[in-house]
Amino acid sequence: MRVIDADLLITGRDEEPIEAGRIVVADDGTIDAVGTQEDVAAPADADHEAHPVAMPGLIDAHLHLLGVRDMEPMTWLTESSELGAARATADLRDLLAAGFTTVRDVGSTTALGLRDAVAEGEIPGPRVFTSGQSISQTGGHGDLHFLPYDWVEKSDQGVGTLADGADECRKEARKRVRQGVDVLKIMTTGGVLSEKDAPDQTQFTDAEVEALVEEAHRVGIPVASHAQGAGGVKSALRNGVDTIEHGFYLDQRCFDLFHETGATFVPTLAIMHRLVEQGADHGVPEYGLEKAREAREAHFDSVERAYEDDVPIAVGTDFLGPELIPHGENALELELLANEVGMAERDVIQSATRVAARTVPADDLGTLEAGNAGDVLALDSDPLADISAVRDVAAVYKGGEPVEL
Ligand SMILES: [Zn+2]
Repeated sequence: MRVIDADLLITGRDEEPIEAGRIVVADDGTIDAVGTQEDVAAPADADHEAHPVAMPGLIDAHLHLLGVRDMEPMTWLTESSELGAARATADLRDLLAAGFTTVRDVGSTTALGLRDAVAEGEIPGPRVFTSGQSISQTGGHGDLHFLPYDWVEKSDQGVGTLADGADECRKEARKRVRQGVDVLKIMTTGGVLSEKDAPDQTQFTDAEVEALVEEAHRVGIPVASHAQGAGGVKSALRNGVDTIEHGFYLDQRCFDLFHETGATFVPTLAIMHRLVEQGADHGVPEYGLEKAREAREAHFDSVERAYEDDVPIAVGTDFLGPELIPHGENALELELLANEVGMAERDVIQSATRVAARTVPADDLGTLEAGNAGDVLALDSDPLADISAVRDVAAVYKGGEPVEL
């Protein structure tokens, strides 16, 4: 048993924080009781720690465990997957030390193995949920436009694979299910770091999206869609996609569809911010910089309007590992949501915990309550006063066990 006391306990539920709070975690790593120190007794034989603030461990709902260290897509392909996996193992340690106890990888070749190694206790890291490789149409965001088609078709190294027509989409989805993925990642618009398409171009037909979603939902896993323009957001949502990634150009009809379907929005402002502010110094290809500059204002504006319209927003960074967008710095997304979008701190915290847990989806993560996993982030100062306090990590517990920082 472990007792974690906090002067201020933020449960992540839609309620006021508890002053002089206490969490008791059972030996199996699940929470036994949460409440005030007055109401919840501390078992005599328990390990007992106290911190200024405790809150649920953070969740990054959109990242890539690629283990890459520069921003040049050609290098990502030519480096070995062993090197990528080894670096991503180090990235997982940094994520955990930064208070992220759960991550959702939405496109990589190595995360399935990393997920299992973490679950076995062989390497330290957050709980990993992964889509494996994403699925894109030919010429779409997941294609590698700068390579001959024959190479792309034969390669299994890319972040994505290609499928065209409902039948091929169905088969590609079934191949992912066969690999044991937790979520299916598809691309329903063009993107920033793909050379020859654009964020506002819709990709995949309705019939293709429908086939992908049907295969995923048949086995009870959600579908995440890379969708930046309104057309691709709408085709994703009307065909049952569960989470919209990026969402640069959202209109009222998009927001209505979020409410009708119960889908969650994962904006990934952090990568956009870093690309525009510092991308030129880090070797980002010029086509990517240009598209990012064009879309930045609309992107932040979409998130602001989504917040006003009560669309559920989850924290996701789209970080990959290079110095420009490194794992461990993922708290940037929370800061941008609070300081640039104007979300209230308590809502940002929910975006990084309870709402992000919806994307997995996991009922036992994201809030501190009896029966849930004992994933706790302890801080030295109050994130409800200044969201940057989430960087003031005092301790991290995963399943009630303290993590080596
Ligand atoms: Zn991404």
